Amino acid sequence: MSEDPRDWEVETRLVRGGMDRSGYGEISEALFLTQSFSYENAQAADDRFAGTSPGFIYQRFGNPTTQMFENRLALLEGADVCKATASGMAAVHVAMQGLLKAGDHVVAGRALFGSCRWILSEWLPRFGVETTVVDAIDLESWKNAVRPNTKVFLVESPANPLLEITDIQAVADIAHAAGAKLIVDNVFATPIFQKPLTLGADIVVYSATKHIDGQGRVLGGAILGAEALMNESYKDIIRHTGPALSPFNAWILLKGLETLELRVTRQTENAARLADLIADHPRVRACVYPGRADHPQAEIVKRQMTGGGTVVAFDVGTREAAWNFLDKLAIVDISNNLGDAKSMATHPSTTTHRSMGEEERLKIGLTEGWVRISVGLEGIGDLSRDVSRALDGN
Ligand SMILES: *Cc1c(COP(=O)(O)O)cnc(C)c1O
Repeated sequence: MSEDPRDWEVETRLVRGGMDRSGYGEISEALFLTQSFSYENAQAADDRFAGTSPGFIYQRFGNPTTQMFENRLALLEGADVCKATASGMAAVHVAMQGLLKAGDHVVAGRALFGSCRWILSEWLPRFGVETTVVDAIDLESWKNAVRPNTKVFLVESPANPLLEITDIQAVADIAHAAGAKLIVDNVFATPIFQKPLTLGADIVVYSATKHIDGQGRVLGGAILGAEALMNESYKDIIRHTGPALSPFNAWILLKGLETLELRVTRQTENAARLADLIADHPRVRACVYPGRADHPQAEIVKRQMTGGGTVVAFDVGTREAAWNFLDKLAIVDISNNLGDAKSMATHPSTTTHRSMGEEERLKIGLTEGWVRISVGLEGIGDLSRDVSRALDGN
C-alpha cells in the first residue's frame, strides 16, 4: 500500500514528509554534501539541462538533502512548492524581487522586522520601487495606499515586537482587488499555528533560523506558494542569483522539523503561563500575548491562529525598569533571537528596533519600557521564578 503524504496528520508530515532514501535504506535523512552531479553520458547531461529528464545539476539549483527539507516544509504548509534560502532575509528579499520591477509600488505593514524595513526604505528605491507603509491593523489604510502600479503587499502577523495581528484574509482580498500579491512573513506564528495560504496569501516566507531550527545552530529561510507563481517568479532568480541554502544547514533544519510541533506546543504553553504571570504583576503596565483574551485583536487571533505563539511583550514603563528587568534575569538570556529552546529577552528599542528611529518607533507604540521575551523549553517553575524575581527587582 502506498499512502498520500497529504493525507497524513501534521506530526507524521513533520517526521516522514519529503523523505527520499538513497539505496542504503538509511533511517535518518542522508546529508549530500556535493556541489555537482555526474551524468551517465553526454545525452543524459543534455536531457537534464533541457529539463526533459529529472535530476540534479548543481547545488545552486538544487540538492537532494535541501529538497527533502523543501518538500517536508511544503507538505506542512500545504504549499505546492517550497524553495529554501540561506537565511530568512534572503527569503524576504527574493520573495519581493521576484514579483517587482522598476516603476512598481509596494504596500507594507509598518511593524516589520528591521532588515525588511531596510529593503523597503533603502534598497528597493535604488531600483525604482516605492513603498507605502501602513498601520497594518487598519484595513482602510491598506485600501487607501493602493496605486495603479501596486504589485506587492507585505505583512508580518503577529508583528515584531508588539505582536499586533493583521486580518490576513481581509488584506489578501484588498491586495487581490488591486491586482497585487500578498506576501506574509509567518515567522512569529510558525507553520504550526497559522496557514497564510489558506487565508488567501499568495506567498509565505520564513526565517527557518527561528523555530524550525529552534536550537540556535544555523540560518535558513524558505519561500512557499502555488506551483505556477513559484515557477514563474522565483525559479530563475534563485538559480541565477545564488541564495541557495547549504545542504548541511538543510539537514539541520530537516531534523528540526521533526520536533517542531512538540517544541512550539510546549513553548506556547510556557508562554501562556508566563504571559498571565507578567500581566498580573503590579509593575507591568501592559502585557501583549496573542493567546490572551485581552489581546487587542483577540477576535482575529481566534479566526486565523490555532495557538498564541512563543513570544510575549510587556511594558514596564521606562528604559531603566526594562534594563533592570533584563539584568536581574538568571536563567533567561539577554538575546535578540527568538524561537529557541532557550528563553531569551530583549529590549527592542535599543536592539532589534534601534535603526527604526524614535519617531517611527512611537508610530508602532514602541516606547522604551517594552521588553520582548521569546519563551523556550525550560521548566515553567524555573521560568516563572526567574521572571517574577526580575520583575520584583530582586
Ligand atoms: C529573523 C527574522 C527574519 C530574518 O531572518 P534571518 O534568518 O535572520 O535572515 C525575517 N522576519 C522575521 C519576522 C524574523 O523574525
